[in-house]
Amino acid sequence: MSNLVIFLGPPGAGKGTQAVTIAKEKNLAHISTGDMLREHVSNETELGKIAKTLLDEGKLVPDSLVIEMLQERLLSNDCVNGAILDGFPRTIAQAKSLDKISEEFKISKVIVFEADRDELIKRILNRGETSGRSDDTEKSVSVRLEVYENDTAPLIEYYEQRNLVSKINAVGEVENIYNLILKEFE
Ligand code: AMP
Repeated sequence: MSNLVIFLGPPGAGKGTQAVTIAKEKNLAHISTGDMLREHVSNETELGKIAKTLLDEGKLVPDSLVIEMLQERLLSNDCVNGAILDGFPRTIAQAKSLDKISEEFKISKVIVFEADRDELIKRILNRGETSGRSDDTEKSVSVRLEVYENDTAPLIEYYEQRNLVSKINAVGEVENIYNLILKEFE
């Protein structure tokens, strides 16, 4: 059985940055549903066409589409040793479907990235200057933060009930935060 580690947290909390290095260190696949969807948009696939406006506006792509995409991704060879899920699940429905498809995969921990709203907005708008991401804009950021509070934050309690949650202070030096996360893997 392979382990899944979920990185949960608001947009701009640094999940992606940390997931890349931790995945390498721990020999896990890095699965970012946001990156996958952006690839679909740039390749103009059927899914990409549906997702484009939603991404631009900061809204969630429908559960069924994201679940199917993730399910397929987990079948890849690079997931045999396990994976870090960065940006999935984002709703209770996604979490429930992950529980169902997790028969070969066990959720071993959920790392919750904590940062205050002002810090998140500052980071995303800074990132927007170089990321080229069409959703790193002031308008989209407020929608993304609201969607996080309404749809995604309830997952913290969902996983707390199963004693899977570790909370990390995600404000500070990237390297210090990296070390905090590594400790959770001991
Ligand atoms: P991210 O790169 O994780 O910040 O995701 C960027 C955007 O992709 C989000 O604002 C959503 O529009 C979409 N997205 C990424 N992951 C999911 C997911 N698990 N469920 C629904 N939409 C998602």
